[in-house]
Amino acid sequence: MASFDVRFLGCKVSHLDAQDVRARLLADGHTERAHGEVTVVNTCCVTHEALSKSRQAAARAARTHRRVYVTGCAANLGGGALDGLPDNVVVVSRRSEETPAAVAADVGALGCVNDDARLERVRAFVKIQDGCSFSCNFCVIPLVRGGTRSRTADAVLREIRRRVDQGHSEIVLTGINLGCFRDREAGYTLARLVRAAGETPGLARLLLSSIEINHVDRELVAALRETPNVARHLHVPLQSGDDGVLRAMGRRYTVATYLRRLEELTDFNLTADVIVGFPTEHERAFANTLRVVREARLTKLHVFPYSPRPGTKTAAEDPVSAHEKRDRSARLREQSRVACLDHWRSKLGRDDVVLVDRPGRGYGDDYSPWLVGGEVGQLVHARAAAVTDDGIVAA
Ligand code: SF4
Repeated sequence: MASFDVRFLGCKVSHLDAQDVRARLLADGHTERAHGEVTVVNTCCVTHEALSKSRQAAARAARTHRRVYVTGCAANLGGGALDGLPDNVVVVSRRSEETPAAVAADVGALGCVNDDARLERVRAFVKIQDGCSFSCNFCVIPLVRGGTRSRTADAVLREIRRRVDQGHSEIVLTGINLGCFRDREAGYTLARLVRAAGETPGLARLLLSSIEINHVDRELVAALRETPNVARHLHVPLQSGDDGVLRAMGRRYTVATYLRRLEELTDFNLTADVIVGFPTEHERAFANTLRVVREARLTKLHVFPYSPRPGTKTAAEDPVSAHEKRDRSARLREQSRVACLDHWRSKLGRDDVVLVDRPGRGYGDDYSPWLVGGEVGQLVHARAAAVTDDGIVAA
């Protein structure tokens, strides 16, 4: 039997992939322990910084563990990205579906001891698809994760029921490009899956991890609205608020489309990813992004300074200075901070239903953060009394 620990860098999908490896090792009878004999580092390569942090994490782990398995996006990047790591580092360059078995085979199975490990207390991420076939000009994800492919609706719905039976009150449908989910044989789109998932007995809250604006259509909006336990929150990557930059990025929408499709969601809390310092982003283009973020009523932004990724169409371009990128990131983050506070203040004196996900904290119906009492895992009724930088304070 081996003792192990698992860590991840990057997004929710990376988190989920790491959890899949963890669940498989637990199922094989290994023991999870901080600073175990072996460790798994599920990596990210979406930016240059993410890749170098992944490398550092693997190198550091190699000093304190007998063996290190490096999995995930950076492990599939190729081009020598992880060359030169110590001898006890094993780079597992496999698709996410194959990675848990590949790691488990190397660690050595002890027989099926616990085949259904509960992973988090309140929230469970359920992967519904992986990969992306959109090929945005800056993005390395299709190269390292492959084209889009979906799980069957039946497998997804069974996993949701299992997670809810284990005590998870919140399910986050997760993937790289969720709107590409299809189960053609069973006749499921994402909208139908949302409706079916929402009917799971005991499920308090259902969320989508992220959705491309192209997929925010009538059918999906109706499913979100008509499924009572769906959170009034959507994370819709913007990337830029300038049509010229969007074209150069190879995104498949204009600013007008982005704004129009969100018009029907005025009561939703809308969040987004934005890239700053893309090669064609001059100051006027960046000002357009600040304007569109306001017009779209976006609150929380994940701001990524552009960095060229190997193998992508824009790999050789990076004319915006690091100083400029830092400055634009700071301006956008400040605008996001103020937008969050404004959004939370608009709730003062009003009631909400908050799902407590850790002691003293939880999320309201539109996924705004609350500072609230109550038992972890419970839905509590709360009235907004004040606002701090951390969220809405319950009366
Ligand atoms: S939609 Fe574009 S940015 Fe998102 S994963 Fe696919 S290629 Fe990358």
